[in-house]
Amino acid sequence: MSMNRFADKILIITAPSGAGKTSVTSYLLEKFPQLAFSVSAATRQPRENEQNGVDYYFMSLDDFKRKIQDNDFIEWEMVYEGKYYGTLRSEMDRIWQADRLPVLDIDVKGAIHVQQQFPRKTLSIFIEPPSIGELRRRLEARGTETADSLQDRINKAAYEISFKHSFSHTIINDDLEKARQEAGEMVAEFIEAGRNGR
Ligand code: 5GP
Repeated sequence: MSMNRFADKILIITAPSGAGKTSVTSYLLEKFPQLAFSVSAATRQPRENEQNGVDYYFMSLDDFKRKIQDNDFIEWEMVYEGKYYGTLRSEMDRIWQADRLPVLDIDVKGAIHVQQQFPRKTLSIFIEPPSIGELRRRLEARGTETADSLQDRINKAAYEISFKHSFSHTIINDDLEKARQEAGEMVAEFIEAGRNGR
């Protein structure tokens, strides 16, 4: 039996790319010291400001496939054409053993798979962009995408929004400050729930 305060709890923040998921996630990590970011494995190239082991465990496709074979992932997805991302079982264990609560910033399909495996102790928050037009504007402003990958992300977003009812909560991100506050209230309650045998 785990002596962890957060025994097997998982917090998932999911959304289409560009909906503000990362920004809500970093706010939550700052506000709640009980949380720890689950670093995913990924086969894409690091962006300029990204660090191996902090943002992702960047790895070759061969290494990623070996980890699939070894059952090292609680979920993995080819999120974009040829680009694989996965949540490592070892990350969950590392974080629970440190007596903290893992936060997963993952795509919609991955989020659904994690919920299916840990149905009772997962809180999932879907961040919805105000509109596809606004999403396009944000992704363009971020400037990290080529024209092709931008269109990929927008097509995928429209599809992902159709799954929003699969999650515990939806927050429409038309005002980032408000979205952060709302998420903060949900997470505060989740952290407290079930503690001390309640
Ligand atoms: P990016 O390439 O912009 O860092 O991430 C692309 C997408 O992959 C984002 O929606 C991000 O949340 C998602 N993602 C990151 N890590 C994982 C993971 O471990 N599993 C899944 N399914 N998606 C992930």
